[in-house]
Amino acid sequence: MVEKDFIINHLDEALRNEEFVVYFQPQYNHSTGMLIGAEALVRWISPTVGFISPADFIPILEEQNRISDVDLYVFDHVCRFLRRSIESNYPLVRISVNMSRSDLLRHDFFEQQEAIRNKYQIPTSLVHVELTETAVVEGAQIIIDAIDKLHRLGYTVEMDDFGSGYSSLNVLKDIDFDVLKLDLKFIAGTTDNSRGGTILSSVVRMAKWLELPVIAEGVETLEQADFLRSVGCDYIQGYLYSKPLPPKEYEELLKKSQVASILPQMSLHDILSSGNFWNPSSLDSLIFSSLVGPAAIIEQTGDRTEILRINQKYIRELGMNLSEKDLIALDPTNTFDAINQKIYSDTLNKAAETKKEVECETWRNLKSPTCGFERLCLRSSIQLIGMSKISRLFFVTIRNITNEKQLILEKQKTERRFKAASEQANIYFWEYVVATKEMHPCFRCSRDLGLPSKVCNYPEPVIESGIFPMDYADMYRDWHKQIENGAKSIEGIIPLTKDRIPFHVRYTTEFDGAGRPIRAYGSATLVVDHSK
Ligand code: C2E
Ligand code: CA
Ligand code: CA
Repeated sequence: MVEKDFIINHLDEALRNEEFVVYFQPQYNHSTGMLIGAEALVRWISPTVGFISPADFIPILEEQNRISDVDLYVFDHVCRFLRRSIESNYPLVRISVNMSRSDLLRHDFFEQQEAIRNKYQIPTSLVHVELTETAVVEGAQIIIDAIDKLHRLGYTVEMDDFGSGYSSLNVLKDIDFDVLKLDLKFIAGTTDNSRGGTILSSVVRMAKWLELPVIAEGVETLEQADFLRSVGCDYIQGYLYSKPLPPKEYEELLKKSQVASILPQMSLHDILSSGNFWNPSSLDSLIFSSLVGPAAIIEQTGDRTEILRINQKYIRELGMNLSEKDLIALDPTNTFDAINQKIYSDTLNKAAETKKEVECETWRNLKSPTCGFERLCLRSSIQLIGMSKISRLFFVTIRNITNEKQLILEKQKTERRFKAASEQANIYFWEYVVATKEMHPCFRCSRDLGLPSKVCNYPEPVIESGIFPMDYADMYRDWHKQIENGAKSIEGIIPLTKDRIPFHVRYTTEFDGAGRPIRAYGSATLVVDHSK
């Protein structure tokens, strides 16, 4: 470690000689893979002692009230970098700079900063300012005034190291930050139990109440990033994507990157903590994200239901190019009409009462940026997994059955048309299933003969009803044996009912690929004597 005296004594010289190098650590949207910006992090590369970490020299310079010189230096280099990017037509994303508490105390700091920005003609939208939480605790009024000033100048202010102190929650409602930076090192340290994940998800949730975008930093594993995404935090900075890069390397990256800006996030409300489930490295999380089918965790509070977590398979099952965030922000009740809404909430109630898995099928109207409006039918299996005084938590797996449903509806439509046609043509028709000896009568048969929609052990019940005269009953029984034995078609005149009204009765058999009879289609038409 470098001596304190060295740092203090060599600072001016180092600034003059440009021994400080500004590195850039890229930030990404984990859902889209797009670059959303970078944080400027300073390094001191001394020709005499080599690399000096900011963790070593920054606290000393802060203590000596000399940090502002470094911060203005960094700001200058950031603006210079942005100017070059603009001139070279590189994709433009904002860069965040760190500001220390003592910067705020220096009366001319903002003027100097603005002079630099004007020199390079950089819009404030391209530079965000990071302030730490500790700076806030020590003197709230100074921070409030500073943020106010930064806002008036047009800057976006990010709260750095959110979660590192105890005041976080209070701070948020009093101070007007625009973005939260959540450091995983302060929160997710204890991954052996569920606390890290629970706190993390609560913080993300809270940020969403306040409609603040959250950038998670210190994200080192894919597991952490996926977990963050599943609770609605997409913006990621950390070794998983990239270490802080020297300017040249960042420039190269920028050139080949697709960029986007931080969008305001949509609101998500309170959830129950369900222990292990919120721990990114827990078995439950693993199961949820990779082992089960399309699944979601939803919460019901009063009349409101909300999606808290979904896995990738869920998104794929909908097949509408939606993102996790689109779905998490969605109030599912808005996707139902009144009838489907009732079916769904009845099913939730039943699942809560019985504590068993309950199924329902509901139609939903969903909208996605790429597909527009779509009407989907989902079969949901719903199971209660948690309960509090005010809300209930459910595990839901879904299957998209829209295509099946549409086929059934099509079929019903054809059947209705067929029914209407047979009504007019004076035909009775039915289907006889060879393997099960079941008969499915048409609407007219059911109505006129009083038959149920499925008649078992056909034709016995119909013979017993007495509609066949005794001398024809055995013949009719024999027809069904012939069908079983492979007769392609059979027909004859049969007098029916006590009045012996002649009907032309026909059967046509359908066979499977191996030539076995599957079912026969029967019809009966009244024989009309045209001679009369
Ligand atoms: P910070 O603002 O919280 O910056 C994030 C620190 O986390 C950086 O350390 C960064 O290199 C490190 N980091 C990034 N990703 C990961 C990761 O995945 N895992 C781990 N373990 N660490 C990660 P760095 O560059 O050493 O900076 C340390 C601190 O020094 C910064 O913390 C910031 O408070 C301060 N600092 C750096 N540059 C400046 C500056 O220009 N001005 C001022 N005032 N402070 C600065
Ligand atoms: Ca920072
Ligand atoms: Ca930080």
